[in-house]
Formats: sequence, C-alpha cells, structure tokens
Amino acid sequence: MTSKLYRPENWSASPLESDSAQLVGGRCARCGNVYFPRSNVCPGCGSREPMAQVLLSRVGKLYSYSVIHVGAPGFKAPYAVGYVDLPDGPRVFGHVDGWEDGPIPLDSSVDIYAGPIGKDREGEELISVRFRPLPSGQVSRGGT
Ligand SMILES: [Zn+2]
Repeated sequence: MTSKLYRPENWSASPLESDSAQLVGGRCARCGNVYFPRSNVCPGCGSREPMAQVLLSRVGKLYSYSVIHVGAPGFKAPYAVGYVDLPDGPRVFGHVDGWEDGPIPLDSSVDIYAGPIGKDREGEELISVRFRPLPSGQVSRGGT
C-alpha cells in the first residue's frame, strides 16, 4: 500500500523520509505572531507581507480532544482528534493517540509526529499530524 503526505508544504522535510521533519509555521512580519498553517494574510493583524518560515516545536500541550465514533469516509472509527498548543504560539489540529487507555488529562505534554490518519478517495493512506502523549515528567528531545 502506498502512503501520501497530506499537505507536504506544512513540513520542513518529508516525514516519510526523515525522522527530524518538523511542522513549519509562519511569523507575521508586522505583528510577530506565529501561525500554523502559514497564510497569505495574517489572521491577527491583516498584514499581507510574506510570513517568514518558522520551524515549530515537536512538543506541545494538549488543549482538548474528542473521540469520533462516526468516521468521515476513509477514516476508521473510533479515533480521536484534538488541538495542541505549541510553545511557539500556534494551536495545531491532529489525531490523538492513547485515548483508548482512558482519558488523557488536558495540558498533558504530547509529542508531535507524522503518522497514518485514514485513506483518501483513491484508497491511498494519508499521513498527517498525530499527537502522542508523553509519560508525565518526561523531558522530550524537542522540549524547550
Ligand atoms: Zn500580523
């Protein structure tokens, strides 16, 4: 089975080929806020100046998540999706690991990586953002 990276422009390198691939956000030239994904217009101040690329942290804090019991086409339910706050500023959406073992406390530290999320209309496996809870107290490789 073949795999396809969803929105490769959001990564510093292909996570299919590199373990060190990071999400890439954009820093607004006017207000300095960092956003993910990058945008042509700053959602904060409306500036249209090109955003500088910023490599984002590989660790964040779980903001919230939900378990999906009725999956979208190509997505095998149940699965969990949620938002993670990065120390760099952005709140990132992705699939959440570890919920099957019981509730994950909010604000838990999570590792951000690329993994399979479902299949597209052609049946090709999609690779995108996933969050993996870190054991509490663990200092991760991407930590600040
Ligand atoms: Zn701005």
